[in-house]
Amino acid sequence: MHLAILGAVSLSILYTLIYPWVYRSQLAHYVMFGVASPLIVGLISAFAWRVQVLARSLRVHGMLNVSGEFRGRSIRLQGVLIGVIALTATTLATSILPGLLYLNVKLTVAAVDYMLVAIFYVRPEVNLYADFDRALHDIRMPFNIKDVIEGRVDASQVSMGVSRLSELDMYETLSLDACVEIGACEESCPATAAGRPLSPRVLVRKLAMLKGTTGPGSNPLDVVSDDELWACTTCGACTYNCPVGVRHVDIIIDLRRRLVELGRLDQKKSNLLLNLSQYGNTMGTPNYGRHEWLRELGVKTVEENPGFQYLLWVGCMGSFDSRAREIVKALIEVLREAGLLDKVAILGDEETCCGDPARRLGEEGRFQEIALRNIELFRKYGVRRIITICPH
Ligand code: SF4
Ligand code: SF4
Repeated sequence: MHLAILGAVSLSILYTLIYPWVYRSQLAHYVMFGVASPLIVGLISAFAWRVQVLARSLRVHGMLNVSGEFRGRSIRLQGVLIGVIALTATTLATSILPGLLYLNVKLTVAAVDYMLVAIFYVRPEVNLYADFDRALHDIRMPFNIKDVIEGRVDASQVSMGVSRLSELDMYETLSLDACVEIGACEESCPATAAGRPLSPRVLVRKLAMLKGTTGPGSNPLDVVSDDELWACTTCGACTYNCPVGVRHVDIIIDLRRRLVELGRLDQKKSNLLLNLSQYGNTMGTPNYGRHEWLRELGVKTVEENPGFQYLLWVGCMGSFDSRAREIVKALIEVLREAGLLDKVAILGDEETCCGDPARRLGEEGRFQEIALRNIELFRKYGVRRIITICPH
């Protein structure tokens, strides 16, 4: 859709510029028509798709019970995008019409279209440029626990979560300004598809509107509910699919950190964090013997195989869950067949959780503690390469 809009604008500018020289040539008209028609077809499809997105977003508004003001603003913004598409198609079509008649009309339509496109795209483009080389999994760190341990930062000054919009980092703030309700995030969100009380589009727009109305000092939790934040699986499909680089997951995790600070977690989430502290794994099972079954399959520990080349990081699910164990067994068979099993070792009882579940729940401090411990362990055994089935 965006390529069709930007392609059509570029082509219509080119045609407008060269028109006085080529308008007498029949051949030039055929060529211009041939080049423009795929773009016009693309714009018509984009128009139909946008209407369908608008209809879906109205359904989602009903599901999430958003306010009348939100609904009105959302419809207006999406209406502008639909208008831009229609106007761009008209501009391109009129720029290839034969003859210089109605030149003033053509130029006026084109000028309005170019202005609207420029206004519409400037903020998303700035966001894309600022966020250009930031990896999707690069989650913002509110602090570095090493600074606290080594005394460079006073622990009492460390704040994990975001209690005011002004505490969001530059990328997140730009994200709020960049969202133009394209809706690709909502379309790819498993939580929205499953009918859970979350739409990444609505969440980002609610925060953008809050910033626009009551300013950066506002508390995001005034407009985003706990249920919305906990409904997210942190899969990242929203950020991956957003064409303007909005960082939904960063924002959601920042707000979850605040919920953790306020102790607004249900029993299940509290238990998971407790399991990490008490057992070193998410399952709440004693860690002792977690890899015994692997040793029975012929996999050696790092102590039994000090010359290993690859560390097999099994992960909590792979270690304890009977179905995930089948995946690990299959991987071991592959390694055995490839003649690599002798070069592989496991950590045995020393392996714990990687800490990612704590981070995604918003317990950044616990995550960093676990991560540091794992780094120490890797250093101790000289780990260079890791093979894992753990998705984290
Ligand atoms: S966050 Fe991105 S994909 Fe979602 S509605 Fe906004 S611009 Fe579109
Ligand atoms: S990360 Fe959360 S908001 Fe984004 S697509 Fe996944 S579930 Fe939806």
